[in-house]
Amino acid sequence: MGNRGFEKVTFSAPCVDLTFEGFGVTRNGKDVVFVPGMFPGDEGDVQIEYRRAGQLYGKLVRLSKKSPDRIDSRCPVCSICGGCVFQKYAYEAELRYKTNKVKEQFRKVAHMDVDVLPCLGMEHPEFYRNKIQMPLGKDRKGNIYTGFYKAGTHVIVPIERCYIEDQRAEKIMLAAKRLMKSMRIDPYVEDERYGIVRHLLIRTSKHFPEIMVVLVTNVDSFPSRGNFVKALVEACPEITTVVQNVNSRQTNVILGEKERILYGKGYIHDTLCGVSFRISAKSFFQVNPIQTEVLYQKAMEAAHLSKTDIVFDAYSGIGTIGLIAAKDCGKVISVEIVKEAVADGKRNAAQNGITNYEMYCDDASAFMNRMAKDKRPVDVLFMDPPRKGSDERFLNAAIKLAPKRIVYISCDPSTLARDVAFLSKSYNVESVQPVDMFPRSFHVETVVSLTRK
Ligand code: SAH
Repeated sequence: MGNRGFEKVTFSAPCVDLTFEGFGVTRNGKDVVFVPGMFPGDEGDVQIEYRRAGQLYGKLVRLSKKSPDRIDSRCPVCSICGGCVFQKYAYEAELRYKTNKVKEQFRKVAHMDVDVLPCLGMEHPEFYRNKIQMPLGKDRKGNIYTGFYKAGTHVIVPIERCYIEDQRAEKIMLAAKRLMKSMRIDPYVEDERYGIVRHLLIRTSKHFPEIMVVLVTNVDSFPSRGNFVKALVEACPEITTVVQNVNSRQTNVILGEKERILYGKGYIHDTLCGVSFRISAKSFFQVNPIQTEVLYQKAMEAAHLSKTDIVFDAYSGIGTIGLIAAKDCGKVISVEIVKEAVADGKRNAAQNGITNYEMYCDDASAFMNRMAKDKRPVDVLFMDPPRKGSDERFLNAAIKLAPKRIVYISCDPSTLARDVAFLSKSYNVESVQPVDMFPRSFHVETVVSLTRK
């Protein structure tokens, strides 16, 4: 964050667009300045704050004209927390932005003009997150607070209520903070490398009365641990399991390797599209259970499965997509690189009595290449890679394997567009359907259906 090469001037300007990250776009003469919390149609005074990677960023200091899409937000910290860039933007406008963002990325990155279906949003776009993780701090009076890091910093913004998180977690957070204070269990302070609890993580199930609390600690054992867990479960009997995760490294990664079950089974369950899944502290599981069902339904529709199809599910996590597809096709083969997730996936298949399912622990590209070399028949390929997308090795092998249909599920429209452009040598884009998995944030998930030329 260098401050050289610009002045902290204030200028007056309209907001003309939104960036990929949902920041308002303004102009000060020839300079483009990005402003969080400013929306198209707004006009106001902007103070330039900093330059990062050659780009100027500013702060809205006075609003002189309100965008017709500007709304009030109940969240007192939405302007500083950095999580919900759209708390003060009408939800319909946010959905239009997301639809348009997918279209734009195809145009910019892939030079493709694709029809994008309107982004599917939530009826009530709040309190949706099933996974809550917060760092902790202690104020001068010894009160413990939880919150989020202020965007781009390690300063905790204290938060009592978050409007996108499952409200059952709020009560548990409050009880945990109160008990930590009375039992003198200190939060871990990064700069001083002092204290015990680094993060509180809570996972709630939508379909079962099950809730997991994970205490991420800096040390392996600490005084009053047993009493703390006992008192927490007494105060919040809805908690069904408590896990301790030990992370003593200097890192931004929240979870460490070592885990200990302090209460209950160490995992919870939830169901998606009629299949039940076991979720442990480290499992990847989509954070919006309502919209995940919408997403997977759209993925299934896009796949047009028939009873004899052989389906390949790549980047499968704990097996969600493949296991949902299993009942409508002949056989599913899936591949995932994290071995705990593969163990969960195999257990999930057994638990649901799904027998036409095989899961392998491997790098998706390596596995795909072997499949192509062995000329294994595949009718439909589902692929759901992480944010960075897939790679050419995988995509080339996919083209060689030549499934009649590819369903690409993506949480990043720019890597999606890049990969679809690569596949478009051999595949036609049949449909592009954005789904709003993360209301109020700038993120958007997309399902693309591709058919072999
Ligand atoms: N389809 C799942 C998971 C999607 S997240 C779901 O909907 O829940 C992406 C998954 O890709 C993660 O589980 C991650 O561990 C896995 N992954 C990342 N790189 C991989 C690679 N090179 N090969 C196989 N899997 C990979």
